[in-house]
Amino acid sequence: MKFLLLSLALALCPASSMPPPDRVGLNLREGDIMMPNQRNAILGNQYRWNIPIPYELSVNLSVNYKGIILRAFEQFRLKSCIDFKLRTAEDISYISVESRDGCWSYVGRRSTGAQTISVGNGCGLKATVEHLFLHALGFWHEQLRYDRDDYVTINFKNIITGKESSFYKYYKNVSTTQDTPYDYYSLMHYDKNAFSNGNGFTIITKHPEF
Ligand SMILES: [Zn+2]
Repeated sequence: MKFLLLSLALALCPASSMPPPDRVGLNLREGDIMMPNQRNAILGNQYRWNIPIPYELSVNLSVNYKGIILRAFEQFRLKSCIDFKLRTAEDISYISVESRDGCWSYVGRRSTGAQTISVGNGCGLKATVEHLFLHALGFWHEQLRYDRDDYVTINFKNIITGKESSFYKYYKNVSTTQDTPYDYYSLMHYDKNAFSNGNGFTIITKHPEF
């Protein structure tokens, strides 16, 4: 976690690179990424948020969940240059944190106006909230880095049928590693059983210490 957010600070605070355009097709990609309905994924400044990032907490979030979200913000403040602020009338683009069905987020700033992050029932863990906000900041899952084959082996035969695309890499033309080392401990890394069909691990690390 510490490592991840330090990487985040290095990655996002100076002139940051763009999150990649996504592959439209599924509504929820890789389990928790909400896809835009239209293909508007042009590389450019529109994917960046201005810091501090304005947010609103929906009235349908429980008091407990609101507290967890605020604690997640505190971690970003402590470990990176990312900060958040309550939305005011002047803030056109902002993150609307809501309790919808499941835990999901878009990747990067996707549009003008409100952009939803859903912290639904069962999603009220600080690490989960941080994960969802990291998506909104422009991060994909760590194990989809274009260089991931140097670090992990994906066991496609163990993946639930129909979920294979959740393990496709993002190539250099659409993603950047920001020159950060591969992070097995990243909050954005799936665990070894992710989307397993019950026949065994889906992700095997190439370094046994991890
Ligand atoms: Zn995710």
